Amino acid sequence: MAHSDTEHRDPDCLFCRIIAGEIPSERVHEDEQVIVFRDLHPKAPVHVLVVPREHHRDVRDLAARPELLAHTATVAAQVAADLADGDFRLIFNTGPGAGQTVFHVHAHVLAGGTLAEGEM
Ligand code: 5GP
Ligand code: ZN
Repeated sequence: MAHSDTEHRDPDCLFCRIIAGEIPSERVHEDEQVIVFRDLHPKAPVHVLVVPREHHRDVRDLAARPELLAHTATVAAQVAADLADGDFRLIFNTGPGAGQTVFHVHAHVLAGGTLAEGEM
């Protein structure tokens, strides 16, 4: 099944606009399925967001695309190995009650230091 950016794009979505290049970001990786850029307000020495190009609201919706969800995890691991020592914490805030503020699914990758329990 073909999925294009245009089919899955929301013109009012901040991360769709970053993906389209309308809003600048510090990209550290990109491929056909995801982009990875540095979080504006880092909470660890390395704090990047792995963002599927397709617009899905959260990881519950992304789970309908298991290969894309798996690719998101694979890229998170690659970036943690490239930018830090390879260990990382992967977080999907899901829903406002869990602190999600941007409703385009993204995985937070936190790495590059000793991450305390309960941090982020
Ligand atoms: P959430 O709270 O939805 O899980 O995460 C959204 C994240 O996006 C936050 O950590 C926030 O710092 C980051 N963020 C919000 N706006 C921007 C932006 O314009 N550029 C970048 N690089 N990060 C952003
Ligand atoms: Zn979007």
